[in-house]
Amino acid sequence: MKKIEHIGIAVKNIEDSNLLFKKLFGKAHYKIEDVVSEGVKTSFFKSGPNKIELLEATREDSPIAKFIEKKGEGIHHIAFAVDNIRKEIKRLKKEGFTVLNESPKKGADNKLVAFLHPKTTNGVLIELCQEIDDK
Ligand code: ZN
Repeated sequence: MKKIEHIGIAVKNIEDSNLLFKKLFGKAHYKIEDVVSEGVKTSFFKSGPNKIELLEATREDSPIAKFIEKKGEGIHHIAFAVDNIRKEIKRLKKEGFTVLNESPKKGADNKLVAFLHPKTTNGVLIELCQEIDDK
């Protein structure tokens, strides 16, 4: 794993939270994206070298809807950048982590992503993400 790529925050209303985080960072989000397969709408903010992803559920059965129902709004996941996500999935499985995605899927922000189950990572949902090479 290379570095923290972004931190994901579950919110109830992304329009309200976009305004809130705009005040916090002093600049607006640079991207909004619907990830239909996950039932989420996301927006991304930059603060220096760091990125924050806000996530709002667009369906009742969305993982974000379930998360907010159980825990309320707040930090949902920490994403780490990796060079080779398939290799990393293999390595982490061997180390005993529960990987939620056998093969990586297309996430927001032009990334391949996979998640580790929080029960094997001290309650923290970990996202692995690899930049998709379009070239
Ligand atoms: Zn994320």
